Amino acid sequence: MSMAWYCSGSSNTELIENLFKAGLIKNERVKDAMLRVDRAHYAPSSPYQDSPQPIGYGATISAPHMHGHACEYLVDFLKPGSRVLDIGSGSGYLTHVLTNLITDPSSVGGTDGQVIGIDHIQELVEIAHKNMSKSEDGRQYLESGRVKFITADGRLGWKEGAPYDVIHVGAAAEQLHSVLIEQLRTPGRMFIPVETENNGSLAGRLGLGGGQYIWVVDKKADGSVHKEKVFQVSYVPLTDAPQK
Ligand code: SAH
Repeated sequence: MSMAWYCSGSSNTELIENLFKAGLIKNERVKDAMLRVDRAHYAPSSPYQDSPQPIGYGATISAPHMHGHACEYLVDFLKPGSRVLDIGSGSGYLTHVLTNLITDPSSVGGTDGQVIGIDHIQELVEIAHKNMSKSEDGRQYLESGRVKFITADGRLGWKEGAPYDVIHVGAAAEQLHSVLIEQLRTPGRMFIPVETENNGSLAGRLGLGGGQYIWVVDKKADGSVHKEKVFQVSYVPLTDAPQK
């Protein structure tokens, strides 16, 4: 029995409950935030399966357990009023979950806190907007400005909205962009997949080693920056915008 099958469901609730039972989601707040977003609004096919799916334009919506992991690393920095930057927002699914995590359910239409989703493909920004408009709370998030989707190169962050309590990067970066670390609040946390630099090494030249790892970057209350490499992943790359 494969993990993907085990963690599938016939409904969003079943999918999230199965991820929780399997220990792939452990945090209750993350679980609740994911229960409140119907993944079918964001994934064009097999929305209740624990696997990534293509969403067009070379992008994929990540697997539900990956979204869960990302949120669990960030959850302690997400509370009512927090400011969040979601780079490579793609389908907009995670943007919605992150918004739930900074929103008191009794004030969905409120304006405290903000999540900014950035993607460099205009069509995906439009799709994310459309996806979020499929639910009542999503429409309120957009109308109140609690969520904003922007077309821009996410490698530069979005300094107009800085500083951020949380920066999530949904595509693999070539480096731990220092401009993003600058835009973190003190304290704040960034979750970012980074391509291992192996150009110079023998292993790299032979095409061995390398790979992508999630880095968790903390800007501590005293301003010091702590970087930790946590686990290996496989994300689409953070790139230049495609030529039109
Ligand atoms: N979190 C999203 C992931 C989408 S895949 C989801 O689960 O739906 C990664 C996204 O990063 C793609 O939508 C791609 O268009 C975007 N992307 C790649 N390079 C980028 C860049 N330089 N700036 C902004 N977005 C970028």
